[in-house]
Amino acid sequence: MSFQHVAIIGLGLLGGSIGLAVEAHLPDVKTTGYDADPAVRERARARNLCGTIADDPVEAVRDADLVILCVPVGAMDAAAKAFAPGLLPEAVISDVGSSKLSVSQSLAKALPDHTIIPAHPVAGTEESGPDAGFSSLFHQRWCIITPPDGAAEGQIANLKSFWQGLGSTVEIMDAKHHDLVLAVTSHIPHLIAYTIVGTASDLEEVTRGEVIKYSAGGFRDFTRIAASDPVMWRDVFLNNRDAVLDMLDRFLGDLALMREAIRAGDGEMMFDQFSKTRAIRRRIVEQGQDDARPDFGRHDHE
Ligand code: NAP
Repeated sequence: MSFQHVAIIGLGLLGGSIGLAVEAHLPDVKTTGYDADPAVRERARARNLCGTIADDPVEAVRDADLVILCVPVGAMDAAAKAFAPGLLPEAVISDVGSSKLSVSQSLAKALPDHTIIPAHPVAGTEESGPDAGFSSLFHQRWCIITPPDGAAEGQIANLKSFWQGLGSTVEIMDAKHHDLVLAVTSHIPHLIAYTIVGTASDLEEVTRGEVIKYSAGGFRDFTRIAASDPVMWRDVFLNNRDAVLDMLDRFLGDLALMREAIRAGDGEMMFDQFSKTRAIRRRIVEQGQDDARPDFGRHDHE
């Protein structure tokens, strides 16, 4: 049996996109949304992000058979405790948080009597808030489900078909492994972008005006990532600390090798490395995970 009524907690980019995607692709599924911020709820009503927008977290989850938390990773615990009294005993609780092990543990603690099946749609943009969501965000994007040991197969299958219904391809993974993989593919790249953009804007020898004027030389693409939501990313690094530190050590080792190659004038080493990375970019485009057009096809949904 699939889900009939989905409650969405947090109506920013992810929550709003789920509401719009359900309306577009699963029109028989009822949606109720809630956000702690009254101004966000007002925008969510104006944009019809969900069938109903509740002003109270307990009311939002009443009658819902699936509740999806779409708040920053550090706010999961407080959000879950706020709606807990309204939950149906059989309701399945899921989320979209970017790190999985700590979220899994904090939700299990906050809602000990409920089935919790965390998930992470690997889809997003640098925008946030209730105006950022769009219905095609999950099209041809991966959604990783990280069920805890002992989760019922039927409920995992229901969650899988829900995400497939929104256009995602679903993969099942262990939460710890998810955190390691995402540390490499998402968290470290964001850390590098935040750092390089900060370094460039702090340079005294180069004016800020010049940094912006000549940004097309590579810097511009980093600024897109470094414009991502500061609360979300602070929480990701606080909650995926071990995996990020592990991967950061690997990265710093590789960076030191590259510095040595430049110092020693080792052009062969650099050429080999840059050829390998170019091939990775081509494979990402071939697999439909990005677009070869100059704006990476990012304006298609507008
Ligand atoms: P967002 O646009 O900032 O939306 C989050 C919303 O949750 C905000 O409106 C926020 O209100 C609200 N909120 C905060 N605490 C709350 C609480 N206790 N109860 C109810 N609402 C609360 O963030 P997002 O980009 O959608 O990210 C949401 C989650 O998705 C995060 O866990 C993130 O790791 C994950 N994720 C993000 C991306 C991405 O690319 N952005 C991709 C995949 C997964 P205030 O702003 O007023 O605090």
